[in-house]
Amino acid sequence: MIRTLVAPVKYVQGRNVLNEAGEHIEPLGKKLMILASERVTHIIKDTLLASLQRTNLDFEFEKFKGECSRKEIERVSEVLKKEGFNVIAGAGGGKTLDTAKASAYGAGIPVVILPTIASTDAPTSAIAVVYTAEGEFEEYRFFPRNPDLVLVDTLIIAQAPVRFFVSGMGDALATWFEADTVNIAGAQNMAGGHPTSAALRIAKLCYENLLKYGLSAKLAVEKKVVTEAVEKIVEVNTLLSGIGFESGGLAAAHSIYDGMTAFKASHRLYHGEKVAFGLIVQLVMENCDPTQINEVLDFCIQVGLPVCFDDLGLGKVSRDDLEKVVRLATAENETIHNEPFPVTEELVLDALLTADALGSFRKKLRTSPNLV
Ligand SMILES: [Zn+2]
Repeated sequence: MIRTLVAPVKYVQGRNVLNEAGEHIEPLGKKLMILASERVTHIIKDTLLASLQRTNLDFEFEKFKGECSRKEIERVSEVLKKEGFNVIAGAGGGKTLDTAKASAYGAGIPVVILPTIASTDAPTSAIAVVYTAEGEFEEYRFFPRNPDLVLVDTLIIAQAPVRFFVSGMGDALATWFEADTVNIAGAQNMAGGHPTSAALRIAKLCYENLLKYGLSAKLAVEKKVVTEAVEKIVEVNTLLSGIGFESGGLAAAHSIYDGMTAFKASHRLYHGEKVAFGLIVQLVMENCDPTQINEVLDFCIQVGLPVCFDDLGLGKVSRDDLEKVVRLATAENETIHNEPFPVTEELVLDALLTADALGSFRKKLRTSPNLV
């Protein structure tokens, strides 16, 4: 059996570390493109400029157009080649970061990741999720190399809307369960090998720290402050979940997410919010111990992650729509087939409906404990 672990070359996290970005980036290239949306540019520009001006780097900002699509990746790759950039930094959320990774690969240059939100575990991985121009999931792209530098300024993360932070916890919540399933099934992780013990321990720690520090960190970020709990959860959402999913592997939860992108109504939901619900579906499919399911449901309810169709804004979802989700979620190349049993459309549909019912019930139970 061949086991594989991949990770970013360098990970730097802390309050105000963006002040030190220049010295970390300088060894990677001479001419730097910073890919960022207008909003993100506004947030990071002053600090980043001050830091880069203390180095010998040439640098320019390039505006990210909003979707990690084939067209945008091609466009950025072209600019990189034409202008002779030899290092790129993506600053912002998952879509910008993934576009930077894919364009860097296209141009054959190193990539720096500067997340301004902790909403997914995309930053450390050698994977990009590509969407159609309309925002539907299209494909995963795999690169031969993880980012050269991931630099996370926790003060910037804490200034972003708390919903991003909570969504990152939703993405991280699934990490251990998906890695565990992949390991049990003898399936492969995202790096093309079986999970190492290291990856499994990282994934488990991801879940444990989430339960321990999640609520406190969420409350701190609501106040836009950085505590040690916030540092723990930024590490959970970014590094532990990142290595955990890539080197541990994905299973049903992320396929349910992929399926749910088919709902126009769900486009206003973030990746991790849908993944959290996908995890509940996975646990139902696996007939997981009810105590464990309740622990996951209670965590979601406590921090504000969706546990039922109502929470997802899909209160009146039709059976036809659900069947479309299930069809996409069970497509041939989906990680749902890493489950240790044959996965049929029927099984997934029944689990979806049950997950919704269980989630609604648990929510009601918490407000009126006399139900049972
Ligand atoms: Zn994810």
